[in-house]
Amino acid sequence: MEKILCEGCGAEIQTEDKTQSGYVPKSALENKQIICQRCFRLKHYNEVQDVEYTDDDYLRMINQISGTNSLVVKIVDIFDFNGSFISGLQRLTGNNPIILIGNKVDLLPKSTNKNKLIQWMKKTASDNGLKVQEVFLVSAAKGQGFDKVEEEVEERRNGKDVYVVGCTNVGKSTFINQLIKRSSGITDAITTSYFPGTTLGFIQIPLDGESYMYDTPGVVNRSQLVHYVTDKDLKLITPKKEIKPKGYQLQDKQTLFFGGFARIDFEKGLKQSFVCYFSNQLMIHRTKLEQADEFYKKHVGDLLQPPSSETLEQLPPLVKQTVKIPREKTDIVIPGLGWITVPDGGITVSIHVPKDVQFSLRPALI
Ligand code: GDP
Repeated sequence: MEKILCEGCGAEIQTEDKTQSGYVPKSALENKQIICQRCFRLKHYNEVQDVEYTDDDYLRMINQISGTNSLVVKIVDIFDFNGSFISGLQRLTGNNPIILIGNKVDLLPKSTNKNKLIQWMKKTASDNGLKVQEVFLVSAAKGQGFDKVEEEVEERRNGKDVYVVGCTNVGKSTFINQLIKRSSGITDAITTSYFPGTTLGFIQIPLDGESYMYDTPGVVNRSQLVHYVTDKDLKLITPKKEIKPKGYQLQDKQTLFFGGFARIDFEKGLKQSFVCYFSNQLMIHRTKLEQADEFYKKHVGDLLQPPSSETLEQLPPLVKQTVKIPREKTDIVIPGLGWITVPDGGITVSIHVPKDVQFSLRPALI
């Protein structure tokens, strides 16, 4: 059979499996214009079907943006910047201008230096090959920062369409719902879910008589911790309100555990206070470095939780990397979990995080 592509999403048309992308009933093959069942339902009933997509499907869908003349709004979770980054986005979206929006700002302590956060986001985006026009911080849930975003989007799109892109769980649906609520008063126009992976869709939202905003499917980035945890654990590691710092005096040869998801060994340097910014429900535990391996083996899943025993089955093993922290106040960022501020720096630590999750260092935000 000759390869046919869906005119909506570009997936290869198939008639065998309803749960996979590109499905159409056999009878639909007769049609002149073929769109998959999912796109059909979306178009005619504004209904999003849960269909399993491969990573390539997502990227191919996003890649359609490169053929448009539009403004791209890329949303990231500021607690999961590395995890919620779409690599190759610049290529996938062509020459279209991109603005970057950091979501979930309501969870940051009030004393956070937001300018520093914006600078860090700009630099990290640029280090990852993404040229962004501007960075904004918002709380999609609370509506913080929206006056400015709306104004900028209006000005920068200049009558063109807008494509909203992001990885799963960054708050893309909440963001679009907030925009819709502000302009029309309608709440929850797009179904949201606590869990990643349910917002599959290229939903078209009219902006004015001639242009549209498009909600694109949440891209899966394999380095996102959310893909390795259960729904229950995700609730525990996601902070629910402004996070409160917790300080731990540490000297060398001591270890801090962050549930069973991450661990820091203080290898060498002068005693100092490690200030930890994580969900209250993530247990932080201090031990001697020499006992830490044993302790982890024995207590992961009970004293060290989350993860639960169920999550443990799907969690990649922790991988260790030793780094020298510069001689200045530095944050060690563990994407999807939180960060640890080392006030004086100038120490050597080993950081253990699940394989595939990539920690980073930045000048302290607070
Ligand atoms: P999507 O997968 O990107 O569409 O993400 P959702 O909109 O479904 O949001 C993912 C999770 O993040 C949900 O649990 C939301 O309640 C939460 N969330 C979204 N926006 C915010 C925000 O501004 N602040 C906080 N604290 N949580 C948010």
